[in-house]
Amino acid sequence: MKSNFVINWRNCAFFFTTTVLGVVGGPIYIWKHGLTAVDVTMFLVWTVFTGMSITVGYHRLCAHRSFKAHPIFQFFCLFFGAAAFQESLLQWTSQHRNHHRYVDTDQDPYNIKQGFFYAHIGWLIFRKHPINYDNVKDLENDRFIRSQHDFYPLWAIAAGIMLPLFIGACTGNMLGAFLIGIAARITFVHQSTFMINSVCHYFGKSTYDQASSPRDHWIVALITNGEGYHSFHHRFPSDYRNGVKWYHWDPSKWAIRLLAFVGLASDLKRASEFQILSAALVADKESVERSLGAMPQKVQVTALTNLMIRYERIKDLLHTWELKVKEYAAISKQGLKESDAARKKAAQLQAKEAREQFLRMREQWADFVEQMAFKFAFQP
Ligand SMILES: [Zn+2]
Ligand SMILES: [Zn+2]
Repeated sequence: MKSNFVINWRNCAFFFTTTVLGVVGGPIYIWKHGLTAVDVTMFLVWTVFTGMSITVGYHRLCAHRSFKAHPIFQFFCLFFGAAAFQESLLQWTSQHRNHHRYVDTDQDPYNIKQGFFYAHIGWLIFRKHPINYDNVKDLENDRFIRSQHDFYPLWAIAAGIMLPLFIGACTGNMLGAFLIGIAARITFVHQSTFMINSVCHYFGKSTYDQASSPRDHWIVALITNGEGYHSFHHRFPSDYRNGVKWYHWDPSKWAIRLLAFVGLASDLKRASEFQILSAALVADKESVERSLGAMPQKVQVTALTNLMIRYERIKDLLHTWELKVKEYAAISKQGLKESDAARKKAAQLQAKEAREQFLRMREQWADFVEQMAFKFAFQP
């Protein structure tokens, strides 16, 4: 893919204006007039609606097709997604699919290898990749998606500027709507979204893949509706969750579950627990191998042998647990007669025992990985 350096003056002017109005004008307005309930409500509602339309709608629903949604919800995401001023759904998705496909290479539109600033916002103002819509053919026949793309400025101005201004006018506070509900809100949603491409490819933990740049960063997750668990997301992009643990802050996954509960979403895709655990073990192993790389040959050989023995053992235990769970599921499905209840019970017990064995070994494995990282980080 060819790329040419050009300054995108339209984006420069837009970022500059919204940032100055939001970061300078907003506080001056608050100092002079104070904040009204309408200002706060408009900021929060548009931040949540536009942010969620990007994370749940543009990203998880359309770019990765991680679930199916009712047309009413799709329209909501197109409307408020336009109000986020992050381009049309088709353009956003095309670039995002290339980001996943070519991550960390020149064909990645926001390639972190070109620097933190470039991945954050530089790619939007200094360089314009030719956008090839061949990778979004599955989406472009939808008439609302098509309309949002063809008339994007109209959609964005109506949803992101005119509607908040109209509400401001009706409540007698257009200046507050303009500075807080529009400028400050756009700046916050822009900068937090951009941090996924910069911070989450630079700082944090490569929990599921040591070979590429995406990382999990819980602070970014806090301000991006859960998108900060980026190592998991790149490793399992079709999973509707980004924060895979139940306690991970991921309002987007909770919103998708809620949509499914009320009948507006279906076919929620998720990677199996075993695939996820297996990816984490491989990443742990690779992180230890990497820290051993700089050690003298003799130390390396001993430590590597120790590592591989433990890795093979825990991998076997995970595999055994998976087999036992499958066996139990197969027996349960057969609709057994009462006389076979004992067989079913035994299979259930074996699956439980295999799980416990794996979890015990994983505790030791986690200690071992931590010790190795600590030990070799301080070797001369
Ligand atoms: Zn990424
Ligand atoms: Zn993605």
